[in-house]
Amino acid sequence: MELKDIGEFGFIKRFAHKFDKLIGKEEMGIGDDCALLPLNDTETYVVTTDLLIEDIHFLKTKITPEDLGHKSLAVSLSDIAAMGAYPKFSFLSLGVPKQTSVEYLDAFMNGYQKLSEKYHTPLMGGDTTKSSDKLMINVVVVGQCKKSEVRLRSMAKDGDLICVTGNLGDSAGGLHVLLNNAALTGESESLVKKHHNPEPRIKEGIWLSNQNSVHAMMDISDGISSDLMHILNASQKSANIDVKQLPISSLLQNMAKKYAWNEIELASSGGEDYELLFTVDRKDIDRLHKEYKSRFTDEISVIGEIKQGQAEIKWFENGNEISINKSGFNHFANS
Ligand SMILES: [Mg+2]
Repeated sequence: MELKDIGEFGFIKRFAHKFDKLIGKEEMGIGDDCALLPLNDTETYVVTTDLLIEDIHFLKTKITPEDLGHKSLAVSLSDIAAMGAYPKFSFLSLGVPKQTSVEYLDAFMNGYQKLSEKYHTPLMGGDTTKSSDKLMINVVVVGQCKKSEVRLRSMAKDGDLICVTGNLGDSAGGLHVLLNNAALTGESESLVKKHHNPEPRIKEGIWLSNQNSVHAMMDISDGISSDLMHILNASQKSANIDVKQLPISSLLQNMAKKYAWNEIELASSGGEDYELLFTVDRKDIDRLHKEYKSRFTDEISVIGEIKQGQAEIKWFENGNEISINKSGFNHFANS
């Protein structure tokens, strides 16, 4: 058996349970956007780590070192946002091919530092080592949160509405532009910018976790078709999603028309949007929608509802059940 046969999550399943007995009361390990490490009676640290590898997660010829520095930290900050926490510290480890120019590394650190400054999150340590020929980037971020405000994937309730912040699919559209070497016009460049410069939803996550009606929450890194399954598995619920309700920017709609992209597929399975996916008590949705809109530059969209039943997503279009590519993004699959 090879890793591609079982995938990332199949691999994790083989060993995760062996650590359960070592994990203390109120601590939480593998299985959510962050681990929980209680700090005192009322607060907890949340910790996340991400690994980015050249040619797997990024193409060095397509992203500037400054954007790469930004994105390396942004993807981890997004996991902090997903818990409803604020970031405190980061750690950065790099595996660097020795012919890499110092100017490249300076620009990388510049992008990393600028985003650190924006969220008052100092770099506290890490490691730098030689790598044979690919650049490797590992980021750890520690955040903090009131225990009562932590939002987990396991918190979805029957009848909850399923919501997302912002738009879906822009980042995947940007990746399409890069991989197809499409002409860089104003429109295509904006999509590429979404792909290279994701903005972590820290403020939005903190605000949402302050609302009692917001139940489960996570960030969208692989696309809702795969990410929502994590909420459904953890909460032991089913979901109905209406593809007509997926928030797709007019920018992506225009580009999809122009290049014959499937915008529904990009919005549901494209990934790297780093928006928040959460479930809400439907009685509070109007107030939540209004208050969110008055505080932030974008909106929340209702895309479906949580149902009783085994963990699966049913997709609907104009009331009719449809099937879409549900594979999401498996890092070890053949294609
Ligand atoms: Mg996440």
